[in-house]
Amino acid sequence: MKNINIAIDGPAGAGKSTIAKMVSKKLGFIYVDTGALYRTIALFITENNIPDEDIEKSLPKADVSLRFIDGAQRVFLGDRDVSDVIRTPEISMAASRTSAIPAVRAYLFDTQQSIARSNNVIMDGRDIGTVVLPDADVKIFLTASAEERANRRYKELAEKPDCPSYQEILDDIIKRDYQDMHRETAPLKQAEDAVLVDTTNLDLEGSANEIIRIITEKTGCDK
Ligand code: C5P
Repeated sequence: MKNINIAIDGPAGAGKSTIAKMVSKKLGFIYVDTGALYRTIALFITENNIPDEDIEKSLPKADVSLRFIDGAQRVFLGDRDVSDVIRTPEISMAASRTSAIPAVRAYLFDTQQSIARSNNVIMDGRDIGTVVLPDADVKIFLTASAEERANRRYKELAEKPDCPSYQEILDDIIKRDYQDMHRETAPLKQAEDAVLVDTTNLDLEGSANEIIRIITEKTGCDK
């Protein structure tokens, strides 16, 4: 039987990864966070000080791979597990910038498609329903207001040292949304056949339930 592919796209901070993890656990699917791939390329470029004009030719040396350890995705640069070090605001912004480069997108395209070909996946990103998995069984566009997304991120970071201010977080989110939506290659947008889920007034549980309801309705898969 063909594998089931679920695409979840949406802007930064809409809760895609947390919600997709909850849903994939419930359905027994593999969860693939494609943002981690773009972040890892950004880390590779930053650490090696690669100038823009040399990015394309240096990509084959990056050796980016995803591994699933106890069902959880880890991302590797060569043999180094970089899953945690890619989660800084600097790498978020660098990823948003480098992900606009067509050669970077082309380089990561096969990695994403081949995982989806051989597994039941919930894959989240910006262009999964529009470019990577245009034939996905279910497409969801998950969003929330920029203020609510900034608010959630601020609460998450508030306990940490050097926590940015709410305004800095909101400014970053607005800037990243703009960059992701206005790039020429694979911009962030809702696929025509995607279902819009706005989580501004939903908690995590409510958002996950809504997505499971949509998946069940479209695929009959509700284990
Ligand atoms: O999802 P996350 O915030 O980790 O993604 C980091 C950046 O990677 C995004 O701002 C976006 O520019 C880029 N990205 C992308 N396409 C994807 C996933 C992420 O362009 N499928």
